[in-house]
Amino acid sequence: MTKGNPHFGTDYTPFILSVKQLTTIRMACKCSTYPDLELIRESIDKRIAITKGIKKQLQFLSESPSGDSLYKCAVCQQLWQNSRAWNWGNKEYVFKVPNIDVADWMIESFALPDQMLIYSATMNDYFKKNTLVESDKGCQKNGCGNNALLNNVLCREHFIQNLQQFGLLTKFPRGRMFSPYLVGS
Ligand SMILES: [Zn+2]
Ligand SMILES: [Zn+2]
Repeated sequence: MTKGNPHFGTDYTPFILSVKQLTTIRMACKCSTYPDLELIRESIDKRIAITKGIKKQLQFLSESPSGDSLYKCAVCQQLWQNSRAWNWGNKEYVFKVPNIDVADWMIESFALPDQMLIYSATMNDYFKKNTLVESDKGCQKNGCGNNALLNNVLCREHFIQNLQQFGLLTKFPRGRMFSPYLVGS
């Protein structure tokens, strides 16, 4: 093709069109408009309400052994995971997660914000009602170097663990912890 070709200009038309199409597709991705969830009930409520709409732009990648699904936005490559929030009547919602290999994600999926929320709320409530004071005696759990609680044979950590094991306190959320959701144990 020479510079003098009269069709030179029109040769670019398909290219220009495809850029326009790409721009349209980019504009169609709304991932960045959905914030990370706040660990409050209203935030989960809101996300449940718009999850169907968000999922329309996502591609399904995989389902983990624990039953979570991993999705990807085909436009910006953002990864999303779902959860069924049992405390909200098992309703589904999706949340953004960091980049990860699907194989790694299959071994352990990300922790669920609804479980983190319930865990935090339960623990806060528990510590409001119960003041745990350290004694000067050692914890009786094998190999533990902490001091036991007053009127107790266990330290704070092992006492809480015991309550969780017996179902008297919510268990620490399963799954990979990730930013910005950081819940202390
Ligand atoms: Zn996106
Ligand atoms: Zn201990």
